[in-house]
This record gives sequence, structure tokens and C-alpha cells, in this order.
Amino acid sequence: QIKLEQLHKHFHGVEVLKGIDLSVQKGTTTVIIGPSGSGKTTLLRCLNLLEIPDQGRLTLADTSISFTGKSKVNYASLMSIRKQTGMVFQNYNLFPHLTALGNVMEGQVIVQRRSKSDARGQSLQLLDKVGLRDRADSYPHELSGGQQQRVGIARAMALQPEVLLFDEPTSALDPELVGEVLKVMKDLSAEGMTMVIVTHEMAFAKEVADQVVFIDQGVIMERGSPEQVFELSKNERTMQFLRKIQ
Ligand code: ATP
Repeated sequence: QIKLEQLHKHFHGVEVLKGIDLSVQKGTTTVIIGPSGSGKTTLLRCLNLLEIPDQGRLTLADTSISFTGKSKVNYASLMSIRKQTGMVFQNYNLFPHLTALGNVMEGQVIVQRRSKSDARGQSLQLLDKVGLRDRADSYPHELSGGQQQRVGIARAMALQPEVLLFDEPTSALDPELVGEVLKVMKDLSAEGMTMVIVTHEMAFAKEVADQVVFIDQGVIMERGSPEQVFELSKNERTMQFLRKIQ
């Protein structure tokens, strides 16, 4: 489903991703872990081209782009990748002037040019899926952080992407609200949604991930099943990181 080959990205002369190779199979959940500043968010943003890599190759379903640093990325390919990915942000990024329903409908009406009644029907179904059918008419400021994030997930799913990307979706939440968001993500994973998740929730990663990727200083240090990374790792950097956060 997704393939990264020798992906490089730098900001102001500092190389943040140093040749990332990664494959994500359709229907699986990949969890990316690693210390602060290791490049996790940048890697995720390169997957939907919110950041344009400097070098390497990105393949998502039937779209493949090579980056050379100099030539501009083909616009049709860029849009194709963006259409196939849905992003859930740490701070929800909901439109404050739209209701929960409005937030989920917006992309369908504006991007997909669906009729409002079609978009409304599908959006209500999605809100139902994340347990918020009865809050459809609430504005973001009337919702808890956990509820806002669940709207964020429904909104990301509304454009029917091939892949859902999550950037630390629970790290802005009060601890008692984390579970309700993880539960929605767990259900999506069980339904076979392809997901790539940056998170510090290790218990979630152990339970839900098909693949765990440990990234440190822009390099993938280790990748494997939760058991391989959490229990059987012999990599000193991985063990050091896990000791610190546990
Ligand atoms: P955290 O867990 O703290 O969110 P991270 O692993 O997600 O960290 P990134 O956010 O990808 O790390 O950042 C990696 C490095 O790249 C950091 O040193 C950061 O300061 C730098 N960086 C990220 N985005 C930009 C940008 N737009 N401009 C300049 N530097 C950036």
C-alpha cells in the first residue's frame, strides 16, 4: 500500500530524515515511536506531502513519485497522494465556526463536490461510528478534547482515504479522555483500515500494531512486530528509549 525508499528531508541544512525505507501493507496498523525531535512528525507529513521530501521515492497505491530536490513535484501526483490520505492532528484542527457535522461535511462538499444531502447522510453515519451522532450540532468549543478528536477522525475518514495518518492524536488530551479516542482507533484497525500512527501510547502500540517502527535521529533503528521491538530487541538505543518511557 505504502512504500518509502531512501527518503531524505532536511530543514535549513539539518537533515531530519536520513534515508527512510518503509513498507506498509494494506489493512495493517503501523505505529511509529521514538524520542522527541527524531523526525516522526516529519515522516508522517512526508507521507501525505504536507512536507515535500528532498530525495527518495514515495509510492501510495498506484501513485509513485520520485523526489530529486530540484524539479517540482507533478501536481496531479501530489493531489492523488493527498486524496488517498486522511490526517488526524494532535490539536484536532477543527474549523471553529462549523459544527461537528459541518466539519465532517466540509471536505465532501468542497473537495468532492457531493450534494449537501449526500454529504450530510454520510457524515452523520461517521459521527455515529465515533459515538457522536447526538453531538452533530455542537461547535468544537462545546465539545471535550476527546470528542473534538473523534470529530477529527470522522472528518479524516469522510473523504474515504486509502490510509489514515495520526500525529500524536492523544497527546493534547487529559488522561481520562485518551481511552475514548484510542477505542475508536482500535475499532478502525480491527476493521482493516490502513493506519500509520505516531504515538507515545505504548500499551496501545503493543495491543494494536501489526508493525512498530522505532526512529531515532532521522534513522529507522528498528522495525518489527510489537513483540520483536518491545520484548526481544537487542538494540541498545531501542532499549534505552523504552526504559525511559516506561
Ligand atoms: P516530537 O515527538 O517532539 O513531536 P518528532 O520526532 O515528531 O518530535 P519532528 O517534529 O519531525 O520530530 O522534528 C524533527 C526535527 O526537525 C526537529 O529538530 C525539528 O525542530 C525540525 N523541524 C521539523 N519541522 C520543521 C520545519 N518546518 N522547519 C524547521 N525545522 C523543522
